Amino acid sequence: PIDWESVRQNRAKYEAMKWQGLPPIKKHFYVEATSVTNLTPDEVTVWRKENNNIIVDDLKEDEKRPIPNPVQTFEEAFQQYPEIMKNISRVGFLKPTPIQSQGWPVVLQGFDLIGIAQTGTGKTLAYLLPGFIHLDHQPISREERDGPGMLVLTPTRELALQIEAECSKYSYKEIKSICIYGGGDRRSQINVVTKGVDIVIATPGRLHDLQMNNFVNLKSITYLVLDEADRMLDMGFEPQIVKILVDVRSDRQTVMTSATWPPGVRRLARSYLKDPMMVYVGTLDLAAVNTVEQTVLVIAEEEKKHFTFSFVQSMKPEEKLLIFVGKKIIADDLSSDLILSGVPVQSLHGDREQCDREQALEDFKNGSVRILVATDLASRGLDVLDITHVLNYDFPRNIEEYVHRVGRTGRAGRSGIALTLMTRNDWKVAAELIQILERANQFVFCRKVLHVTLNIVVQTFSQKKKQTF
Ligand code: AMP
Repeated sequence: PIDWESVRQNRAKYEAMKWQGLPPIKKHFYVEATSVTNLTPDEVTVWRKENNNIIVDDLKEDEKRPIPNPVQTFEEAFQQYPEIMKNISRVGFLKPTPIQSQGWPVVLQGFDLIGIAQTGTGKTLAYLLPGFIHLDHQPISREERDGPGMLVLTPTRELALQIEAECSKYSYKEIKSICIYGGGDRRSQINVVTKGVDIVIATPGRLHDLQMNNFVNLKSITYLVLDEADRMLDMGFEPQIVKILVDVRSDRQTVMTSATWPPGVRRLARSYLKDPMMVYVGTLDLAAVNTVEQTVLVIAEEEKKHFTFSFVQSMKPEEKLLIFVGKKIIADDLSSDLILSGVPVQSLHGDREQCDREQALEDFKNGSVRILVATDLASRGLDVLDITHVLNYDFPRNIEEYVHRVGRTGRAGRSGIALTLMTRNDWKVAAELIQILERANQFVFCRKVLHVTLNIVVQTFSQKKKQTF
């Protein structure tokens, strides 16, 4: 019979030999802010419930570790790292997304993390920002290392490019990244890999190809990300992942993300993560959206502005309106037209200076202006409790965005009204939207708006009588 104990011992001996001489890995970079320590268990429970029903679980089998409290601001996570803070202010995010709030304290403490979260939840930054800090603070400096320190495995070329774009957006201390995917120019990818980069973002097939030909050194990797693990398995990448990970030191830190948690993903997690914590971000909270009365109006592009003006004029003094637009230029155009017609508004988008953005938000919060025109920068994390109306001037790019936008009203037990303008070009998302509306117990109807009927529609809205449509 096979002596499993000696097989295990031999394997351990071989592993130890294989990684001999490599520098130790530093993993702990977290100092819990007092405001985070001081949260009561009840406050934490309420916060998790209100933030997509987050569940955190320690998968360590013997003694369990304390589950870290979430951070609710960027400072609470990165106060020790001014360079990271500078980058966050530059892009103008308002607060961490749920996976970031709960994921950062786990990853920054050096624990492995399984994040069950979908695209659009901010999961990329959940692992990228701690990864930057990890890379920058290893005992062997980046320049002295003979290969990349971070590896992100991801299922598709599109995702790889998207992650690389996020990487460059937050360019931290000139950390260099490279994308390696099938179909890309193999020769130039080889050149860059051998010239020394810090982060490799790769699809498993092409990376394995370069690995087999000794074009990339994986021994230097200390921070590994398996992004969208379920999709990688669905696409049949498991054999390549297994072969790639043979060459990555086993005492690395590993983060895995997946939208779902099927048996294959669990198996992968058991094989490649050590005592991970799992953060599960529930599906979009449609219950929150139940308190919002939602209407979709079919309208021609050129009628939108006129409609918005009439709508604004019908607002009551105590009402507060958040208008979402698709582009910064439309935000500027619409807000300046409203101001010129004597309506005080503020605007919020990525091209405005940080101080102007903060001022805009402050004015809207304290009610000195009652209308805010914003891009999707504001659809997440904007916490103004007394918004009575959301107007989707431009249709959101996807349904997640729709739910986030609509969720800006109807908060803290109040009811809210959301009105979405839809043009012919937006019809491809309509079917999905109708499903969402039905799940949120909304009465679904579309009304084609003609110029002459605009005033009637607006009037009906202010009286909240949707039956009369
Ligand atoms: P992901 O789920 O990583 O694909 O991210 C979806 C989008 O959300 C990306 O465009 C990010 O730039 C953006 N994002 C990430 N974190 C935040 C945040 N804290 N607030 C607002 N947007 C964010």
